Amino acid sequence: MHIVFIGPPGAGKGTQSVRLAKYLGVPHLSTGEMLRKVSQDKSEIGLRSAEAMLSGQLVPDELVVEIVFQRLEQDDCRSGCILDGFPRTVHQAEVLDQWLVGHKRPPAVVLVLQVDQEVILERLASRGRQDDDRETIRERLRQYDRLTRPLLDYYGKQCIGGQSALHIVEGEGTQDEVFDRIRNEVD
Ligand code: ADP
Repeated sequence: MHIVFIGPPGAGKGTQSVRLAKYLGVPHLSTGEMLRKVSQDKSEIGLRSAEAMLSGQLVPDELVVEIVFQRLEQDDCRSGCILDGFPRTVHQAEVLDQWLVGHKRPPAVVLVLQVDQEVILERLASRGRQDDDRETIRERLRQYDRLTRPLLDYYGKQCIGGQSALHIVEGEGTQDEVFDRIRNEVD
């Protein structure tokens, strides 16, 4: 099973998706981590990724798609994985759907971590990553609203065995509280 994590920056996707991957014994794929690695290269792809990430924009779909699917095709992802930060646009979701159909896999289960904007700003301010300054955070939230939030509608319309593919999880509270909610949905 492929599980997709969606949530605004600072919602706790990273932490919770790592825990869920351990719990289910499947690989954890973070596109943010993959892209941070790629953007250290001096190649054209590296420079384009770094530029987008530092300004709080999304990295162009074609670059992300290439990197993600190279990883998804690897053997350890055969029975599924946790996708942390992919898809982030409707186009990426369509490409993932086509890939799943083409590989005779079930549709993705989608978890949305919902957190208030104020909490997000507080969490990000204390994290201190290179793309966590105020202006970049604001841009990343704008990009989330404009490009990623439409995925809630997209996946809200998908059904798996008569149930919605989309599961909304309240992301406030302690890490343990949030993880218990996630486990409830997944179990
Ligand atoms: P956060 O969710 O806190 O923004 P991530 O590590 O998931 O942190 O992502 C960091 C940055 O990596 C994003 O701001 C974006 O520039 C880039 N990125 C990650 N995943 C994608 C994706 N699926 N499509 C485009 N850009 C992405």
